[in-house]
Amino acid sequence: MTQFAGLSKKPASGKLTQMKTIKIKIQDIKHWILTQNSLTKASDSRRSGMVASLLMLSFGVATAFGITPGLSTGGHGVTPVIEDITRTQLSGVATPGLYVQQDSVHNGDTLASLLFRMGVDDQEALSFIREDKTAKEIFRSMAPGKPIRIQKNTSGTLVSLRFPLNDKDILKITRVNDHFEASIAPATETKQLLQATGTIYSSLFAAADNAGLPDSVTRQLTHLFSTDIDFHNDLRRGDTFSVIYEADTDEFDQIKPGRIMAAEFVNKGQAYRRVFFNNADGGDYFTPEGVGIKASFLRSPIPFSRVTSGFTTERFHPILKMWRAHKGIDLAAPMGTPVEAVANATVVFAGWKNGYGNVIELRHSNGVDTVYGHLSGFVRGLRVGEHIRQGELIGYVGMTGWATGPHLHYEFKINNVQRDPQGPEVRRYLRASVNVAGHAKNQFLAATAPLIKELNAIRGTSTAQANFE
Ligand SMILES: [Zn+2]
Repeated sequence: MTQFAGLSKKPASGKLTQMKTIKIKIQDIKHWILTQNSLTKASDSRRSGMVASLLMLSFGVATAFGITPGLSTGGHGVTPVIEDITRTQLSGVATPGLYVQQDSVHNGDTLASLLFRMGVDDQEALSFIREDKTAKEIFRSMAPGKPIRIQKNTSGTLVSLRFPLNDKDILKITRVNDHFEASIAPATETKQLLQATGTIYSSLFAAADNAGLPDSVTRQLTHLFSTDIDFHNDLRRGDTFSVIYEADTDEFDQIKPGRIMAAEFVNKGQAYRRVFFNNADGGDYFTPEGVGIKASFLRSPIPFSRVTSGFTTERFHPILKMWRAHKGIDLAAPMGTPVEAVANATVVFAGWKNGYGNVIELRHSNGVDTVYGHLSGFVRGLRVGEHIRQGELIGYVGMTGWATGPHLHYEFKINNVQRDPQGPEVRRYLRASVNVAGHAKNQFLAATAPLIKELNAIRGTSTAQANFE
C-alpha cells in the first residue's frame, strides 16, 4: 500500500497482524481529521487549541479505537505506536531505521529487563541512566503499569526515552551525537473530542465495551436519555448509540474521559439526541432544538439492573409465604452495586427497619419521598438531615431484611402514598425541563451545529428514522 511507503520499519518480530490493524486505523484518523477540521472552523472558542492539537488528536483517536481504551497497554509485549507512523505518513518523510515503541513497567521489572523487552541493547545508555543525577530519577518511580516510550535504531541503540516520573513531570532522555542528555519537563495533556458508536446485541454494557466507551461515559449516556428511555425495559436488540465526548490524553496516549458533548440513542427505531451547551449556568444538556432534558428525578437509582418484581397491589411474598401488596419495585443487581439518589433530597431515615433491612428514606421537593431497602450498607458518613444531590451515591445493594437474594427494593411516594415507579403518575416527575432562553437560541444553534454535523457523520448506516424528540 502506498500509504505505507515510509513504513519500512518492522516493530519487533512478525507483528504483521498488528500492522494490518494500524492500516485500518489510519483511515479512521484521516476521516477524523477531516471532520475535526470542519468542527474547528465552526467553533471559534475552540479554534486555537484544536488547530494546535489537530495532529495529536488523530493519535488519541487511534488509541481510543485501537489499542486499549483507558490506561496501560498492559503486559502484552511491545505495542507498535501509531503516532510516528501517522507522522511519517502525513509528512511523507520517514526517518529510516528509527523505531518508536511503547510498553509499560511489569511486576518485577528492572530498567534493564524493561529495555531488553523493548529490544534496546545499549550498555552506554544504561550506564548513563544509572549515573546521571536527573536520569536516575527513573529508578524511584518504576511502578508497575507506568508507560514508557522509546525510540531506537535498527541495531537496538537507544535514541530517546520518555517516562512519567509522576502526574506532573516527564523524564526525557535523548542521545545527542555521542552522549546522552536528561531533562525533566512538565507533562502535557491534550483535550480532544473522541467518538464512539455501538449497536446493542446483548446488553448496553457489552455494546459500550465493544465500542471502547469508558464506563464513566456509558453512565452519563444512561442519565442523559433516562427521561425518554427506560434502560431496564426498553432496550432492544439492534438499538444503536453514537457518542462524542471530551477526553484528556497524555503523551503516552493514556486517556482520561470527560463529559459527553453530544449523543444519539436510537431505541426501537426512534432516535433521541442530546447536545451539551455551555450556558450561563456552567452548561447543560438539551435536545438539538434547545429543549431542556434535565430530569428532576432519575428513572432508577441503579443505572443497570432489571425489575424482578413489579409494583402490585397483591403478590405472593416469597418469605412471608402469603399474599400481600408490593408497593415498590425490586431491582436485581449484584451485591455491592452502588445505589444513587434519584433527585436532590434530604435524608430522613438511614438505619434498620423490619422487613426492609438497612433502608434509606429521602425527602424531595413536591411532596415526594423515595425509599431504598435491603441495602448491604450506607455510604460512609451518611446522616439524617444531610442534603444529597441527584445521582449521589447513598448506599449499596444487599439482601438485608426480608430478601431472598441481592436486590434493591425501591419505593416512590407522592404525598406519602406509594406509586408505581414505572407508572404514569411518577413519569410526570421524571421530566421538568428548562429550555434554552430565547435570547441565547442563536448562540446555542451556532455552538451545537458542528456537534450535530458530527453525529450525522458517525451514525453511519443506521436506517432509523431521524425523528428527534
Ligand atoms: Zn421489594
